[in-house]
Amino acid sequence: MYDQLTEELKKSNTTLVAVSKTKPISDILSLYEKGQRVFGENRVQELTEKNGSLPKDIQWHMIGMLQKNKVKYIAPFIACIHSVDSLPLAKVINKEAAKNDRIIDVLLQIKIAQEETKSGYDFNKLRDELSEIITLKNLHITGVMGIGTWTSEESVTKTEFKNLVEYFNELKTDFFSTSSHFKEISMGMSGDYQLAIEMGSTMVRIGSLLFGARY
Ligand SMILES: *Cc1c(COP(=O)(O)O)cnc(C)c1O
Repeated sequence: MYDQLTEELKKSNTTLVAVSKTKPISDILSLYEKGQRVFGENRVQELTEKNGSLPKDIQWHMIGMLQKNKVKYIAPFIACIHSVDSLPLAKVINKEAAKNDRIIDVLLQIKIAQEETKSGYDFNKLRDELSEIITLKNLHITGVMGIGTWTSEESVTKTEFKNLVEYFNELKTDFFSTSSHFKEISMGMSGDYQLAIEMGSTMVRIGSLLFGARY
């Protein structure tokens, strides 16, 4: 599956985040040996444990909800945080990045699904807070992230992806027209990555399709 998927993604120049949450070190190593370097996790403890026992050139992406008091554990090594959804969280990441003498890549997670449970910024709130977020010197804001509704109705997902692309374009124009970093749209998972790419995704987060179902 990995070889086929990377072939497919290469054509559209899309970055693969291999989502390895709940999967053992051996599964990660077997993709690493095939050349994969970007892996995604959604829990801080699992992330720090795996980082400690795997090769140092892995780029770890945090894709799950992040509590402010846990940022310090990942700040020394994390390559990208996909789940920035508040000003206080952005400030803490900035502070911890500075302590580690680093600049951390972050994506602004925007709520696109209708479901109540899905995290992410309300777009208008994000617009209000962004003028302050962009002043944080130890963050590179590299783009946006969204999670679509869990549904088999393609039209629903399509509308949500379209909205995320529109949000990205609006932010690019209004806040990042001179930024060379703001270029990523992280959208698409195992079930909808092809649609996501058609709609303009630059980064897909794929777990079960690569590693098998999680239990
Ligand atoms: C688990 C997870 C994924 C991967 O889901 P799959 O359906 O297994 O590909 C992608 N994004 C986020 C935020 C996740 O938590």
